[in-house]
Amino acid sequence: LLAADGTVAATIFAEMSALAQRTGAINLGQGFPDEDGPAEVLEAARQAISDGVNQYPPGRGQVVLLEAIAAHQARFYGIQLDPEREVLVTAGATEAIAATILAFVQPGDEVLTFEPFYDSYGATIALAGGVHTTVPLLSPDFQPDLDQLRAAVNDRTRIILVNTPHNPTGAVLPRATLELIVELAHKHDVLIVTDEVYEHLTFEGQHLPIAALPGARERTISISSAGKTFNTTGWKIGWVTAGAAHITAILAVKQFLTYVNGAPFQPAVAVGLGLPDSFFTGIAETLSAKRDVLSAGLLAAGFAVSRPAGGYFVVADAAPLGFDDGAELARRLPELAGVVAVPITAFVHPERRPQYSSVLRFAYCKKFELLERAAAQLAGLS
Ligand code: PMP
Ligand code: GLN
Repeated sequence: LLAADGTVAATIFAEMSALAQRTGAINLGQGFPDEDGPAEVLEAARQAISDGVNQYPPGRGQVVLLEAIAAHQARFYGIQLDPEREVLVTAGATEAIAATILAFVQPGDEVLTFEPFYDSYGATIALAGGVHTTVPLLSPDFQPDLDQLRAAVNDRTRIILVNTPHNPTGAVLPRATLELIVELAHKHDVLIVTDEVYEHLTFEGQHLPIAALPGARERTISISSAGKTFNTTGWKIGWVTAGAAHITAILAVKQFLTYVNGAPFQPAVAVGLGLPDSFFTGIAETLSAKRDVLSAGLLAAGFAVSRPAGGYFVVADAAPLGFDDGAELARRLPELAGVVAVPITAFVHPERRPQYSSVLRFAYCKKFELLERAAAQLAGLS
């Protein structure tokens, strides 16, 4: 969390976006789309501002959004929620993660994540004084070894924090792995926290939320966000769904982090969650075609390329190109190919860096023409 001089370090995403701006390189580093989402969602936000929805919303979120979140979970996953007691709106999934960790983790409690892990997990576990344990995800498929998973959960474990589809690897956890997590959570009396911000961006079959599995509901806290589904990463509307007592504990923390957030964006996200099924299948189809364009470009350029089953990112190993230091390559990539990517070592603990040293993460949530241009420029690397 702290830089060598004692100050809090900039996130890797801010650092890499600044590099892209400075050099004019194509920014495939930070994961955000370069096109707007559905017009009716944008229009609903404009309308809400015109209608005077500009003051503090209720602490749990506006009723219209709470109801839309519950209806969305019932429609896609058959999960029935009480919108008034089992749903909480947050300032993005980021706040949902932080408030959840701070609500349940006491100093010394273990929180288990897969590794590589989204950077805010490590930071918030540290803020809570927790101990961050991990199970590695390794190439080529970035799935956990189930015996390692069994061995990593014990009676000191407070939370297993799952992320599927996964940032940065694009791995989707299969049902059997999710079932094992539920079984281990029961055995050791552990909470499951699941970050499903890419729930609608799966390319091979439907998303399976862990909360939908038998025996999971009462110990699972589910987190999602509007950013990825509606191309509104800057709106910072996220949410938590869980049992009423868990929501109350998370709300107790959230009220002192942001209190409330995003009044006019909340009804707009409610409109988005009510869009027809064709919208949701359409965004996954388009994004998988974008994955294919960028993956083909990286392969042609000489990288060893993973096959993401969901999410915004493809990971590519530069070792076949003769680069063994991904952090160094990421710094030089603007000059070598006019492209910015993020080294995977930013998502792992220092002692695990050697296993990922030559691997970079590229975002494909960008316009086709930009991805094609990036692919052409990367071809010059070999
Ligand atoms: N979790 C994961 C896995 C993410 O990739 C991101 C952002 N890209 C977040 C959480 C944060 O989501 P939000 O922007 O809604 O805070
Ligand atoms: N989640 C996005 C990514 O992984 C960026 C979010 C951020 O900048 N914090 O690139």
